[in-house]
Amino acid sequence: MNVYVIGGGASGLVSAITAAKKGCKVTILEKNPKCGKKLLITGNGHCNYWNENQTLDKYHTSNPKSFTPIYNLAKDKVLNFFKELGIIPKIKNGYYYPASNQAISILNALLNLAKYYQVKILYEQEVLSIKKNSKFLIKTLNNSYEADKVIIATGSIASIKDAKTTGYDLATSLGHTIIPPLPALVQLKSDDTICKELKGTRCDINLSLYEKNLSIKEETGELLFTEYGVSGICILNLSRYISLGLSENKNYTLKINFLPWLQEDIYSFLTKQSLKLPYYNISNILDGMLNYKISNALLQKCHIKPNVKLEELDKQKLSLLGEYLTNYPLNITGTKTYLDAQVCLGGIPLTEINPNTMESKLIKGLYFTGEILDVDGDCGGYNLGFAWMSGLIAGQNISKEGSK
Ligand SMILES: Cc1cc2nc3c(=O)[nH]c(=O)nc-3n(C[C@H](O)[C@H](O)[C@H](O)COP(=O)(O)OP(=O)(O)OC[C@H]3O[C@@H](n4cnc5c(N)ncnc54)[C@H](O)[C@@H]3O)c2cc1C
Repeated sequence: MNVYVIGGGASGLVSAITAAKKGCKVTILEKNPKCGKKLLITGNGHCNYWNENQTLDKYHTSNPKSFTPIYNLAKDKVLNFFKELGIIPKIKNGYYYPASNQAISILNALLNLAKYYQVKILYEQEVLSIKKNSKFLIKTLNNSYEADKVIIATGSIASIKDAKTTGYDLATSLGHTIIPPLPALVQLKSDDTICKELKGTRCDINLSLYEKNLSIKEETGELLFTEYGVSGICILNLSRYISLGLSENKNYTLKINFLPWLQEDIYSFLTKQSLKLPYYNISNILDGMLNYKISNALLQKCHIKPNVKLEELDKQKLSLLGEYLTNYPLNITGTKTYLDAQVCLGGIPLTEINPNTMESKLIKGLYFTGEILDVDGDCGGYNLGFAWMSGLIAGQNISKEGSK
């Protein structure tokens, strides 16, 4: 069985190794001079490759029913595969990293195992077209190749500067449809001047995402104010919903609770603090509760002078201050671009593949793995998680004749 894998990234390498182990003759065609360019920048170069907390709700797709079999089939196989790679995990709050703390350890291990199973890797071979007759005919700029089976593992356009022939083009030329890719796990833009004022400031918050007056999603974690808007893991996790909604002309507001630890009503809490601390003005009281840059910015927004005492505030100002401390409305004007995004939502619909094998339902012998498919995960190792899961399933099934 002569198998060609298009793309030597995370899912391509795993599917190639797994198919070669099953006895297939496997060649990877990689457009770059090296494999795993994206893998090397994951987790800030540390590679957060898996998460202990595996639940279906960490993965997003337009067809959850088709995702469940992939998840059930492969989720327990991933860590065994990493044992075979010889990767010792370092687990931090459920996030898996290699003990070396270096993404390159994972790439090197994948390349070593690929070499051991005699996977051939051809570099600077950007695939420009794939045609199917009795066999697949694959063309790059200077070469053509004939394959019995093909795995398209080209990833998404997230964070890619020079995407020429994308996997999406290859898939559509073979009759597949594409759910339009949009940036996900991406920073958000806001026109609120507070972002610029507070740029570089980090804080632990609760966030609620509102579409009109409806709260559609909540997140807790660290928020980072930036020149253009906001970032941080909780923002990245909400970004897919905003990307999708903005593409449908919906408007979003984020409501920020700067006091996530507060168990009681903000007004009674402030009153109690002011009684306990009669020598303090409002600014002094707030300084004991949150980052002084944030409290200064909020006081300014409410037109409250920092040196006034709480009891001197009129009802309106006190009410606005309470609202801003626990429910600050941040208008969202957009997301950053594909280039800034860690992943894309959208891609090839799971309804067009057999989730038990990753084989195309349209073209026999054609398989898809990784981010080119309509699956995106939360921050925390879930996107690589899907790359490994889909790669393992495709590789394991490709050697079986008539696997459809
Ligand atoms: C900055 C950043 C940080 C991230 N951090 C994490 C993290 O910590 N944890 C996590 O789980 N996920 C993370 N991700 C997401 C994760 O990297 C991807 O989801 C994952 O790499 C997707 O694997 P893949 O195999 O589908 O595609 P990729 O790993 O992108 O591999 C695709 C390969 O195909 C090649 N290719 C593309 N087109 C062609 C063509 N026409 N011909 C030949 N070759 C082609 C590409 O050059 C590439 O080598 C991060 C992403 C980014 C951008």
